[in-house]
Amino acid sequence: MADNSNNTNPSGKPQSPQGKPSPNNTKPKKGWVMYVVYGAIILVLGGMLLRQDSTNGPHKIKWAKLESIIRQQDYTKIVIVNQEFAEIYIKPTAIKNDTSYSDLVGHNMMSQPTSGTGFYLYEFVTFESFEKDLEQIEEETGVRVELTPEKRTSPWRDIFIVFGPLLMLIVFFMIMSRISQRQMGGGGGGIFGVGKSKAKVYDGKTPTNVTFKDVAGLAGAKEEVMEVVDFLKNPRRYTDLGGKIPKGVLLVGPPGTGKTLLAKAVAGEANVPFFSMSGSDFVEMFVGVGASRVRDLFDEAKKKAPCIIFIDEIDAVGRARGHAGLSNANDERENTLNQLLTEMDGFSSGTNVIVLAATNRADVLDKALLRAGRFDRQIYVELPDLEERKGIFNVHMRNLKLNNDENTEGYVDRDFLAKQTPGFSGADIANVCNEAALCAARKGKKLIEKQDFLDAIDRIVGGLEKRTKVLTEQEKRTIAYHESGHASVSWLLRWANPLIKVTIVPRGKALGAAWYLPEERQITTYEQLFDEMTSLMAGRASEEIFFGKISTGALNDIERATKMAQSLVVYYGMSPELGNISFYDASGQNDYGFTKPFSEKTAEIIDKEVKRIVEEAYARAKSIILGHRDQMNELASQLYEKEVLFREDLERIYGPRQADLEKKKEEENQKLASASTEESDNSAPSNPTDDQPQHDNENLLD
Ligand code: ATP
Repeated sequence: MADNSNNTNPSGKPQSPQGKPSPNNTKPKKGWVMYVVYGAIILVLGGMLLRQDSTNGPHKIKWAKLESIIRQQDYTKIVIVNQEFAEIYIKPTAIKNDTSYSDLVGHNMMSQPTSGTGFYLYEFVTFESFEKDLEQIEEETGVRVELTPEKRTSPWRDIFIVFGPLLMLIVFFMIMSRISQRQMGGGGGGIFGVGKSKAKVYDGKTPTNVTFKDVAGLAGAKEEVMEVVDFLKNPRRYTDLGGKIPKGVLLVGPPGTGKTLLAKAVAGEANVPFFSMSGSDFVEMFVGVGASRVRDLFDEAKKKAPCIIFIDEIDAVGRARGHAGLSNANDERENTLNQLLTEMDGFSSGTNVIVLAATNRADVLDKALLRAGRFDRQIYVELPDLEERKGIFNVHMRNLKLNNDENTEGYVDRDFLAKQTPGFSGADIANVCNEAALCAARKGKKLIEKQDFLDAIDRIVGGLEKRTKVLTEQEKRTIAYHESGHASVSWLLRWANPLIKVTIVPRGKALGAAWYLPEERQITTYEQLFDEMTSLMAGRASEEIFFGKISTGALNDIERATKMAQSLVVYYGMSPELGNISFYDASGQNDYGFTKPFSEKTAEIIDKEVKRIVEEAYARAKSIILGHRDQMNELASQLYEKEVLFREDLERIYGPRQADLEKKKEEENQKLASASTEESDNSAPSNPTDDQPQHDNENLLD
């Protein structure tokens, strides 16, 4: 995941752990201000230059004074400069005798450009209006006024007119470059450096503020990543024996299982520089940028070795390349991937740079990326099991105000919550904790209680309750029978998931819902899958039996049952008609672009088998419901009335769940069996001598 931590500055330089810039990090800020100052200086200088000729020195006068000078003919000459202003040179005698020119005495007398007289300056509003006014005076006095036009240029002014805009443009781009560089948060270059890597760099003391304490469970994965850190810190321990340090480690697992968190914890624990980047950061609209960023990232990393590079969501760049001729083999992503492959080959195992990457689609990654010598190791980060879920709850409950009083009903029991959340990822559990806090706050509680967590789980699984949705009586009755069908059949079947709660209050998109507690198992048998399909079809079966018609309400159930049947036949080789054949493509690369890797005849068999299995599940569900008609009626009418029923209500109607009793019995038998083997092990000699061959092992092999 993208990491928003701001412990680095845009140039990728470290900041202090508190997030304050360290002293040497003030540079960019200073530079920014400097650019603005330079710009302002250029503007002011330019302005001064432009105005220099016109405003330096002479007294400015208004039209009234100019008119009187002209009418009295006190001037020696009037110079029109660039049609912008006029210089009016006054006769020395007038200056001497007329007190109205006293302001010229001692002023301008030295600086007069031509005649040795003082002069005034008159700025035109427009030259045309000046001409018109002058004509009027000429008409009235009958004296023609001689004007001396003059073109004046200043070399500085010309230089500024030519180069000023260019200079301004350069300053503007420099400022923009700084801004964009800051916004991209990456290492240097700004818009002039799109090819620079945008990796965040963490170094110093635990700058990510995440340690292994924040990662619950994942013991195996933690151990493996810690080994990576050890490779970097004590490489000689491994190389002295001739071993090679691995170059790449790939974290693979479903979304939200803590891959990014684990990588951040490595950064926190490793005490080596850590470059973090997302796969999508490499790809930009410019061609060649991705490859250049990869190069830059590895160059930077090599300079800081020993260090770790972390590439999140590597599938954004690491997807399998197309076949030449069949796809556009030269596209930008492929160039980026090629560069990544080259860089990972390029550094020898002695470089002390290890690449850590995370993805939830290892199946789509290019094979070249996964080969030994690149991502030599793959660490699987699975969905958490019961104990791990408990641990994750503990981590995320650290800052929550909980009801911890075991003697109250609202006591937040971690074991119970972990049992209620099978199939939840770490991210889901973090979400449940947050949602529970919000739930409690909404109710104005001082402490978060068990019910808040249950409401949060319901909300996350089923969506928000929508009691405002208007249903007709008949619709409500149909939903009650539909949900009772699911609840009853799953209660009665050995391998179906046991019910926790069933409701006919609309939630999210669904009009009714049933919550089950899936069993935690690593492999699934045909019987287990078929039981699950039967309970999925039970909703529609119930509608048909009790109302004689079926509705669209079963869409989601049928869809899921059909998909399960398809997987049984096409992937798991569980159809007797088709035999032990799987059309599953683990690489997901579908090498030659075939849509179907089987013949039309096989396709027909698949269709037939899928239909057969789904129909069999439906018929089975119907026969189970027909065999329990009375209980079904009672359950549906209670559900209709109360709107929500729990496991205990079902137990009241059907008695204890047979499947649970059987399971308990099996577990007890297993315990007994293991206890007796332990006993026989203990009675055997614990330290077999060389004279006593270990026949036990031989028997085991037999
Ligand atoms: P994705 O593949 O979608 O990027 P991910 O596997 O990288 O997901 P993270 O981003 O690491 O998942 O996890 C998301 C959040 O879930 C974390 O920020 C954390 O709050 C929580 N979480 C996940 N796993 C754990 C764990 N083992 N312990 C504690 N919290 C966890």
